[in-house]
Amino acid sequence: MPADEFRSVGHELVDHIADFLESISRRPVTAGHSPRDVRKLLGHASLPEHGLPADKLMRDTAELLFRHSLFNGHPRFLGYITSSAAPIGALADFLAAAVNPNVGAFTLSPLATEMEAQTVRWIAELIGYPTTCGGLLVSGGNMANFVCFVAARKAKFSWDVRTAGVAAGNIIPRVYASGETHTWLQKAADLFGLGTNSLCWIEVDNDLRMKTSDLKKRIEDDKQTGRVPFLVVGTAGSVSTGTTDPLREIAAVCREHHLWFHVDGAYGAPAAALPGTPPDLKALAEADSVAVDPHKWLYAPLEAGCALVRGPSALTDAFSYHPPYYHLEGGEEDPPINYYEHGLQNSRGFRALKVWLGLRQVGRKGYVRMISDDIALSEEMQRRIQATPDLEPYTQQLSINTFRYVPQDLKSGSNEVETYLNELNAELLTRLQKSGEAYLSNAVINEKFLLRSCIVNFRTSLKDVQALPDIVVRFGRATDAEIRTDRFPKQL
Ligand SMILES: *Cc1c(COP(=O)(O)O)cnc(C)c1O
Repeated sequence: MPADEFRSVGHELVDHIADFLESISRRPVTAGHSPRDVRKLLGHASLPEHGLPADKLMRDTAELLFRHSLFNGHPRFLGYITSSAAPIGALADFLAAAVNPNVGAFTLSPLATEMEAQTVRWIAELIGYPTTCGGLLVSGGNMANFVCFVAARKAKFSWDVRTAGVAAGNIIPRVYASGETHTWLQKAADLFGLGTNSLCWIEVDNDLRMKTSDLKKRIEDDKQTGRVPFLVVGTAGSVSTGTTDPLREIAAVCREHHLWFHVDGAYGAPAAALPGTPPDLKALAEADSVAVDPHKWLYAPLEAGCALVRGPSALTDAFSYHPPYYHLEGGEEDPPINYYEHGLQNSRGFRALKVWLGLRQVGRKGYVRMISDDIALSEEMQRRIQATPDLEPYTQQLSINTFRYVPQDLKSGSNEVETYLNELNAELLTRLQKSGEAYLSNAVINEKFLLRSCIVNFRTSLKDVQALPDIVVRFGRATDAEIRTDRFPKQL
């Protein structure tokens, strides 16, 4: 592509994107397409034999995406913990792709490598974690948690697990976490050779926080029966309800038993930057490792996760090899960082740039304000749900609300009514999600199917929060009127 063509196609694209961003709140959240609708849209043509001019191609493709996507940047997208993307992040990805450094090794990406290292230190600083830590950027929360899991395995197994494998230890290793933990943990236990039977699920209290009394008991029991505890996972902002485990107490248990203490802060860790943060959230600073997701509350476009480990060499201990085909020597006094030795990837993109630019564009103050605003909106949402007769509030933690629609004549709480309410709320959610008016997700607490709103969105305003209860009630009434007699012919 000649420079002139690049310039004109690029300018037009930027204009097109600016129009899109400016108009996002006037669009539906989603077109609500089925897989068949989307396949039809793309057609079934085989691989193009011949190319097309870039200008028309870019114009058509942008239009296709703007018309038929789900917009997590929409002010009424309050679904999963998938945030609005900061526009500077889009520009950052554009710039990163143009320079295209391979951030696997210092020599291939001198500036980008050090910008990533600086980004990692700034993220640590923001959440109150020691800035002497090791760390790197990865694709998201799952990968960040995996990296920390592998570092824990290497650090805590008493034999050379990297050479001999997990089975060579002839032990039954044990990992402790509450049932509220995200499913990355099952994947990690499976992928890294322990098997999901190594996971010991700790009870939670009424607020869905890990019971440290149960944690202590299960560790003692396991030690008695010859099993080998090595890792405890606490969550700072759980995926369902935003709950934070009692991290201070868990840290003390880990110290006493010499266990690795990992905190999954994919969602909640940045909230530790707020003044007046509860001590339990602040206590993520005591962890041996922390996972943070810049593509959540730091508003980086997908994908950006960050793994932090307290011991600066914990990652190279777990991941480094020195193959003969790399000649990447550095000065002895000032050794370069070669990120391929710090994690799972070899060639790596410059995902740090969008995070680095975001942190510089708004600074600590900007993030504190945006995160505080989200939490304040969620608290306001809770008040409005409480004040709406047909809505039953459940939890409000960080920026997540759970609640459900309960028609006023159905308050009895019998099994039959509960079963119906679960169906009703699930159907309501499906319809609401497809409608494009607003987007919620769900949680299941004590077998109740709940609606869940999660505000990780700098575009969401008080107006959106005010509108939501009425929208939910309207969908609830219509759904109830349609399905109640169908499915439950007799009076409930
Ligand atoms: C989002 C989330 C994850 C998974 O992160 P991805 O970025 O989706 O891989 C893990 N744990 C928690 C607590 C999360 O909120």
